[in-house]
Amino acid sequence: MQNREVIVIGGGMVGALTALLLAKQGDNIHLVEKKPFLKPSVSGPFDLRVSAFSAQSKHLLELAGVWSDIPENRLCAYQGLQTWEKGSQKLKFDSLEIGINALGYIVENRWVQAVLWQALKDLNNVTFYENRAVKGIVNGEKSVRVTLDNQEQIKGQLLIACDGANSTVRHLLNIGVTAWDYRQQCMLVTIKTDCPQQNITWQEFRETGPCAFLPLAGNNGCLVWYHSPQKIAHLKSLSAVQLKQAIVEEFAHLPFDFAVLDKGAFPLARLHAQDYFKGRCVLLGDAAHSINPLAGQGVNLGFKDVECLVNLLQHSSDLPMQTLLKRYQWQRKPANLLMQSAMDLFYKVSKSELGAVRLMRKGVLGLAQNSGPLKNKVMKYAMGL
Ligand SMILES: Cc1cc2nc3c(=O)[nH]c(=O)nc-3n(C[C@H](O)[C@H](O)[C@H](O)COP(=O)(O)OP(=O)(O)OC[C@H]3O[C@@H](n4cnc5c(N)ncnc54)[C@H](O)[C@@H]3O)c2cc1C
Repeated sequence: MQNREVIVIGGGMVGALTALLLAKQGDNIHLVEKKPFLKPSVSGPFDLRVSAFSAQSKHLLELAGVWSDIPENRLCAYQGLQTWEKGSQKLKFDSLEIGINALGYIVENRWVQAVLWQALKDLNNVTFYENRAVKGIVNGEKSVRVTLDNQEQIKGQLLIACDGANSTVRHLLNIGVTAWDYRQQCMLVTIKTDCPQQNITWQEFRETGPCAFLPLAGNNGCLVWYHSPQKIAHLKSLSAVQLKQAIVEEFAHLPFDFAVLDKGAFPLARLHAQDYFKGRCVLLGDAAHSINPLAGQGVNLGFKDVECLVNLLQHSSDLPMQTLLKRYQWQRKPANLLMQSAMDLFYKVSKSELGAVRLMRKGVLGLAQNSGPLKNKVMKYAMGL
C-alpha cells in the first residue's frame, strides 16, 4: 500500500477514475473540481454528452468497482457497428464475429462521473475541494504546492492534471500545445424513437461531414451531425419540430419515426500537449490530448493514460518520480499521437470530393467488408482487446 499525497485537478471521468484507483491503492487523494458534484436522476431525460466506452474502458471501471453501479436504464450495449459512404456498400462489424457480447457501451458522461464520485465519497483517504479551481502552482523538486481560488493551499508529492482540453494546469506550467481547428462543428441531438432499443451504432460519410447514430438505453438515441459552423448555428436556432424536418430532409436516412428532445453543438479541435509532464506535475486525458470525436476514442484514450500511470505508480514506485513520469510519457504520447493522426487521415479522406479519392474510399470500404480476419483485427484493436 502506498501513502503518497496526490493532488488530482479535475474530477471529470478521467480525474475521478484516477483518484479512485489511486485511493484504492492507499494514496491520500486531494481532488479539486471547479463544479459542484450533482447526482443525475435515474429517470430524467438523457444528457447530450454521451460516450462510447470500449471493452477495455469497461474493464477499468470494473476494476474500480463501479461499472455495475451504472443504472441499467442508462446503459446501452451495442453489438453492431456500421459505416458507409452515402450510396456505397456498408462496412459492418458484429460482436458475434469475434465471439463477444458487445462491441462497446454507450453511457452518459455524467453517469460515469457520478458512479466514480459516489465510490470516492465512501473512502476516508479522499479530501474533496468542490466548487474550487486551481489558481497557482509551485512545482518544486521534492513536492508540489497548489493554491486554490479561495487561497487555500494543498501540498503533495505529485499533481495529476485532468482538467480537460482548456487545462489551467497546462497553462500555469507553460506547457505548449500543437493544435488546430477543423472549422467544423458537431451537433448532438437526443431523440425518442418509436421503436425498441437499437443495438447498432452507425456512421454515414458525406461531403459535408459524417452523420452518426448512437443508440441509447430504451427507445432513445443520439444523432451526431458534423457540418460547417454556419450550418450548425442555423440548425441550433430551429425549434424541435423544424429541426426534425431538417433531419428528415438532410440527415442520413433514419428507419424509424422520432421526436427531438434536446440539441447542442461542440467545436471540433485537435490538441496535443508538447510535454506530458513537468517537474512533479503530469497531464492525463483531454488535458494532454483532445481528438476528433469521429470514432469515439477520446475518453477511451484518457482511460488508457490512467491505466498506464496508475500501473507505474503501483509497480515502479521505487523509481525517482522524474523517471516514472518519463516512462508514462514514452508509453502514452506516441500512442495518442498515432490515434489522433489516424483519425485526421480518416476524417480528411472521408470529406474529400476528389473523384480519385472517392473511388478509392468506396473500394477500400468494399475490400474491408470482405477482408475477414483483418476486419476482426481492426475491430479488436478499436475495442482495446
Ligand atoms: C461531441 C463529442 C463527442 C464525444 N464522444 C466520445 C465518445 O463517443 N467516446 C469517447 O471515448 N470520447 C468521446 N468524446 C471525448 C470525451 O468526451 C473526452 O475525451 C472526455 O470527456 C475527456 O475527459 P476528461 O476527464 O479528460 O476531461 P473533461 O471531461 O473536460 O473534465 C475536466 C474536468 O475538470 C474540471 N476543471 C476544469 N478546469 C478546472 C480547474 N481549473 N480547476 C479544477 N477543476 C477544473 C471540469 O469541471 C471537469 O469536471 C467526445 C467529445 C465530444 C466533444
